[in-house]
Amino acid sequence: MTTATGWVCKVCWKWNRPEDDPCFKCKSPRGITDDAEVEAHRKVVEARAARPEPVPDLVVAVPVVVFRGYAKVWFRGGIGLLGLLALMAFGGVTDLLWFALTAGFSAGLVVSGFLAGEVSEGMRNREIWAFLVGIALSVVAVIGSITAFSVFAEGLVDLNAVRWGSLLVFGGAGVAALVGLVLVLRHGRQNPGLGA
Ligand SMILES: [Zn+2]
Repeated sequence: MTTATGWVCKVCWKWNRPEDDPCFKCKSPRGITDDAEVEAHRKVVEARAARPEPVPDLVVAVPVVVFRGYAKVWFRGGIGLLGLLALMAFGGVTDLLWFALTAGFSAGLVVSGFLAGEVSEGMRNREIWAFLVGIALSVVAVIGSITAFSVFAEGLVDLNAVRWGSLLVFGGAGVAALVGLVLVLRHGRQNPGLGA
């Protein structure tokens, strides 16, 4: 069935634009008229609908959201520290080691923030590397935040609390990435050719 404004798919009865071929909804080829052929395509569509989702979206959504959050916090923290560096530079640097440490730390934050943003995008597309980088990032973050607090805030905070806090916050991200990775890998093995 074809009209000037489009055509109706005989398999799923959806309207398609004139340029659509195959059907935008069910991917059946355009212009099937034979009833047996329509029936065959309908079976294909039903089988496709019965297949499970490549990976439950929630599993991917958790690490994606977590890493998107980190990307923002890290990036802004890094930019904020760079501002602090500018103030330090204007005020005359008294301790070059401190200056270098802060510079390195803020650069690290900006880079990690950027990386976490990329990772969350990759995770959304279920890319294996994104989960691996995410796990590595969270390990680096645990070590980095403990080190940063011991260097910058020694005596100000309870280092034990910092250790546990870092482990909970960043370790959680690592676990989310790990679970996502396992599920994506397991799914890849069950349904080769799907996803990726
Ligand atoms: Zn259709």
